[in-house]
Order: sequence, then C-alpha cells, then structure tokens
Amino acid sequence: MSTMDLEIAAGYGECSVCFEHLCAKGASVMVDGSGQQAGFLRAERLPRRVCRHFLCQECAPTIIPRKCPVCRRDFVSTLDVPDPITDPVRWFHVVDRDQ
Ligand SMILES: [Zn+2]
Ligand SMILES: [Zn+2]
Repeated sequence: MSTMDLEIAAGYGECSVCFEHLCAKGASVMVDGSGQQAGFLRAERLPRRVCRHFLCQECAPTIIPRKCPVCRRDFVSTLDVPDPITDPVRWFHVVDRDQ
C-alpha cells in the first residue's frame, strides 16, 4: 500500500464513533430528508448524504441527537451502503455526494 492508500484507509475506513473497521460491521451514511430522485434510478427516491463521513451499521441508529459525530452536521436518518457487487446502481447513488 502507498502512503496515500493508508491515508484514505485512516480517513474513510473506520466508523467515526467506535473506530471499528467499516468492513467488519457494514457502513452507513448520514442523509437528509429530501428523497431526491436519482437520474438513472427513476423508481426509487433516495435522500442525499449530508457529509462525507461514514458510520458503522451498529452505531448509526444510536446517534442522538442526529448530528454527525465528526462535523456536527444535522442529519435526518442513515442509509446502509449496499453491496457494490450485487447492487452497483444503488451503491453509487448512496455513496455519491454533490457538495
Ligand atoms: Zn461504529
Ligand atoms: Zn460528517
């Protein structure tokens, strides 16, 4: 692994609450209440991520008040990140972020 790979793993590979590796428990993202339509996914409306941080699926439902533990942005709910192999379209939309 290069130094950059290690930096990415440190910044994105751990839950912001329990610091467990996200691959162990599954990752969730924090989302707003918008239900914005994905262009290529017309049947399903998914909310947008509020920030770039990840939580593990165990900690995600326990965060109260609903603020990102890292950047303190408000969120409405969390979405589990789907498996990129079996559900690549939904994976892309959940992980993608405009800002
Ligand atoms: Zn966690
Ligand atoms: Zn955040």
